[in-house]
Amino acid sequence: MSLRIHHARHCLAYALSALILLGTVAGCMPDLTRGRDFGEPPICEVHARVMVKQKVPVIASYDDLYGPEWAAAQRELFPHSDSPRTWEGDIAVHGEFALDYVCPGCNEARDQWLIQNRPGIARAKGLIK
Ligand SMILES: [Zn+2]
Repeated sequence: MSLRIHHARHCLAYALSALILLGTVAGCMPDLTRGRDFGEPPICEVHARVMVKQKVPVIASYDDLYGPEWAAAQRELFPHSDSPRTWEGDIAVHGEFALDYVCPGCNEARDQWLIQNRPGIARAKGLIK
């Protein structure tokens, strides 16, 4: 076997294992849409808009993102925004992202809430000048 062919084989094996690794990592990402019945297509119960499956950040359930008012508003006004989800799972094991439904109406309601209730954060996010 020439050195060149050997090198090519080595590269192929490397590419294959990288691909497998990538698949494994993606497969590990928790799917929060599983077992939730939103119909087909999935519709937001607050805004009646079609939601898309998207990668969203997750934070530990004991982490308080913007205070208790935020948590209440998130539950009632924008349950499907792309803001971090509190999650019971072990973030050190499963990573900092999960798949979940995201509603464009929830994102807009979330932005409005931040502008009205957390102007400092809204400014930092570029929602207001
Ligand atoms: Zn919504």
